[in-house]
Amino acid sequence: MSEKRREINPAEIENQRRICREIFARNAQKSTSPLACVDTYGCQQNEADSEILRGFLRDMGYGFTENEYEADLILVNTCAVREHAEMRILGNVGALNHTKKAKPGQIIVLCGCMAQQAHMPGRIKKSFPIVDLVFGPFDLWRFPELLLERLDGGKRVFAKSGGEGVLAEDLPTARQSPCKAWLSIMYGCDNFCSYCVVPHVRGRERSRGKPQILADARALVADGVKDITLLGQNVNSYGKDLGAGETFPALLREISAVPGDFLIRFITSHPKDAGEELFRAMAESEKCARHLHLPVQAGNDRVLRAMNRGYTAAEYLEKIRRLRELMPDLVLTTDIIVGFPGETEAEFEDTLRLVAEARFDAMFTFLYSKRPGTPAANLPDPASRAEKQQRFDRLLALANGISAEKHAAYIGKTLRVLVDGDGAGRTNGGRLVRFTGDAAVGEFAEVKITGSTTWSLEGETV
Ligand code: SAH
Ligand code: SF4
Repeated sequence: MSEKRREINPAEIENQRRICREIFARNAQKSTSPLACVDTYGCQQNEADSEILRGFLRDMGYGFTENEYEADLILVNTCAVREHAEMRILGNVGALNHTKKAKPGQIIVLCGCMAQQAHMPGRIKKSFPIVDLVFGPFDLWRFPELLLERLDGGKRVFAKSGGEGVLAEDLPTARQSPCKAWLSIMYGCDNFCSYCVVPHVRGRERSRGKPQILADARALVADGVKDITLLGQNVNSYGKDLGAGETFPALLREISAVPGDFLIRFITSHPKDAGEELFRAMAESEKCARHLHLPVQAGNDRVLRAMNRGYTAAEYLEKIRRLRELMPDLVLTTDIIVGFPGETEAEFEDTLRLVAEARFDAMFTFLYSKRPGTPAANLPDPASRAEKQQRFDRLLALANGISAEKHAAYIGKTLRVLVDGDGAGRTNGGRLVRFTGDAAVGEFAEVKITGSTTWSLEGETV
């Protein structure tokens, strides 16, 4: 079934909740409550999905453990963006042979983007007999039903997708942090960057309704959350599919208007859709964090075209010039892919030049990874692995030098930090701060910066 958008009927969600209660009742009969171990790979959307899966598990009566040997159920939420991640995940799943031997009856669940790829369920079926249940993101909302089928049926369960355009509301969540929260505003991606598997495993763009998003934001703030990250593969196209003139900048303004002392962040923004309206909405909102993650991917126009990105290097640089004009203290981060098929030395040097000019506060750099079924997988790729690695190392050295300089510039300043662990927190711009002195977790603290590294700041509370 291929549908652009299928809103799951509330009665179907209620049925999942009923199944949770049924499993809960069974678990309540046991002498001790069963334990689940949830392993999450990949992006923030997966983190958010895992919070839903944990919510379901909690409602089914499971406690949580990080020890795979004592878990009654192990859930591996996978990522398919790069082959390296896939290999690591499959290696780790293979190793669960030992835990399952040590704990007979242990249920092993594999879900997430890897599981959604057409070839994967067959491979798991054949090569990983220890895996009990496999489902992708489109079936996440009916995890209870699938688990019950496995618990009762005895047979291994390989879910057939419930339709690629699913949109499910009112799923339970078990948040990992008391003060930070993910808030999904849309699912899927329509951009089809030529290297990327995401549109193939997460389907077409579908936006959640604004009233539901605002209700979630209010509930989070009421619950003491101080840092909300809005999630979407490309948040800038929020609302386009709703056909009611909804836009992301307008949504941002409305969430900013929710009363309370909290910060709003969002990921990810696609540069082709990020413009003046968004930049102004950010600049004019006191709650909007002074942080933008704006993945550029490459600094050469031919490569950007081959990636199907829809902007030039000059257009990108102009956007960040404008951003910094409006918000001089903006922290700007990016993603870059090194070794896209056919990228030459000269083209790579354009990326170095763009990075030197843009001076990102932090960068996430990736070696290109060939993804089956994507257009880039068919392009000639003459550069050797060693050549690509050497370019990667040069880029990383440049990026790290800039990050270290940018971090050093904070020394002597006093920053407002959201404390999210013992002696650790994040600035408004998302910089990690390690500090000494008293501060309560989940609250803001004023920290005087006394030192810095490439990755973080050091300081003391004032
Ligand atoms: N929707 C987000 C996240 C995409 S995946 C976005 O558009 O930014 C996160 C990052 O992984 C991408 O920005 C890209 O830099 C990287 N990536 C995606 N596919 C890749 C591939 N095949 N090889 C290497 N890196 C990849
Ligand atoms: Fe992938 Fe491009 Fe969509 Fe991001 S915008 S998820 S990189 S296709």
